[in-house]
Amino acid sequence: MKKKILITTAIDYVNDVIHIGHAYQKILADCVARFERVRRGKDNVFFVTGTDEHGQKVYNAAKEQGLDVRGFVDDIAKKDQDQQDSLQISYDRFIRTTDEDHKKFAGEFFKKVYDAGYIYKGTYKGLYCEGCEAYKTEKDLVDGKCSLHPTGEIQVVEEENYFFKFSKFKNFLKDLYDSNPDFVLPKSRFKEMYSFIDKIEDIPVTRRKEKLPWGIECPIDGDHVIWVWFDALVNYLTFGLEKNIWNKNMEIIHFVGKDVARMHALLWPCMLKAAGYELPDCIYDHAFLSINGKKISKSLGNVVAPKDLVEKYGVDPVRYYFLRYGPIVEDADFSEEHFKIVYNADLANGLGNTVARLAKLAEKSELSFVGITNENDRLSKEVTQHFDVFRVDLAIQNVWSRLSELDKHINGNTPWAITDEKKLKEVLEYEIKELCVVASLCKPFIPDTSQKILNTFGSEKVTASVGLFPRI
Ligand SMILES: [Zn+2]
Repeated sequence: MKKKILITTAIDYVNDVIHIGHAYQKILADCVARFERVRRGKDNVFFVTGTDEHGQKVYNAAKEQGLDVRGFVDDIAKKDQDQQDSLQISYDRFIRTTDEDHKKFAGEFFKKVYDAGYIYKGTYKGLYCEGCEAYKTEKDLVDGKCSLHPTGEIQVVEEENYFFKFSKFKNFLKDLYDSNPDFVLPKSRFKEMYSFIDKIEDIPVTRRKEKLPWGIECPIDGDHVIWVWFDALVNYLTFGLEKNIWNKNMEIIHFVGKDVARMHALLWPCMLKAAGYELPDCIYDHAFLSINGKKISKSLGNVVAPKDLVEKYGVDPVRYYFLRYGPIVEDADFSEEHFKIVYNADLANGLGNTVARLAKLAEKSELSFVGITNENDRLSKEVTQHFDVFRVDLAIQNVWSRLSELDKHINGNTPWAITDEKKLKEVLEYEIKELCVVASLCKPFIPDTSQKILNTFGSEKVTASVGLFPRI
């Protein structure tokens, strides 16, 4: 294991404010970042998220609303950041692709690839999906539509462009995949990505300014702007260079949704190779979240804002729910009904109830439990193994089985009925220590709750706390 780690999320288009589907990935990456801070030390973990602000989709969204593009993106970016903050996403930087340092560097990056001989001028005649901001072939379409954007129109474009020699990198990608079986996780996605390698063709990496004025100017031709993906992917590197951490000593993990997996798992390593930079170690490619069995979409009117959920239920229940039941490998469905069932079972009757019982017993005993846990308890082998492959769902399940073992212990030893003081001390010390271990292991998932529990039992005189999770 390398000493340092850089964790990134995909950056979101600012044509609209993020919803819970986007936010899932931020919670996932945040949980991993918080875990790694415990494992590797705070100074060895870097975490970046942000917004993708150029491209046709964003430009058209601003124009449709009759707004100045710059003002429009400023507004949405601020709202996106606010949504992330409500979930306590602990990023080191919220990068915007309209930030001056990024714009400057994305231009330099393009020039490097050009100077290395991987960019040439040509004419693109073909299909473009604005939803994906990506070029498509007939084979990509289902009934003439993009499978991810079935309500959008596929555009036929004919444009003079600069092309990236993507097809030159097929063998490079095969070697990369063959020698790094964990380059794409989960495993099930690895094969799928591998199967696309042979289909790679050269792609345009600029747009004509007269058709799309909203973008970073192409450094070799002022009539063009850089295609939004050739700008957006570079954000990771902008941050990496700012912190001087993009090197072979750094483990680099990109969390992405399966809709943008190809760009990250295929195009991005080739861009880096072409420009002469180190490659990431892993692309973690999670599945999709739906709501009440339906795709999340503004036109269906079923969009849920993370901040609204947080205001209604509190931040930790929202984090817990998605980390445990979110689309980490397979697609997952959210409903408020399921959320409430989980909340009551796992949090109110589960963790909250155990904490309340033990706090009451500790208060009554008038004993002190200060110092019964130590730093080593903050990691457990089983939990760590799951984090090694980013399976936060299995990690939290493991913590909850430990919690239910503790409940069995409490029920089996009935500390409320023990009259012998020495025996009572022994039983309570064991149980409170175990609860504090559970609380420590919960830290990456539900940081506030974890701290509250540790504070309760870490004080000289334990006082029975108000319920952590009132039933709903
Ligand atoms: Zn699309």
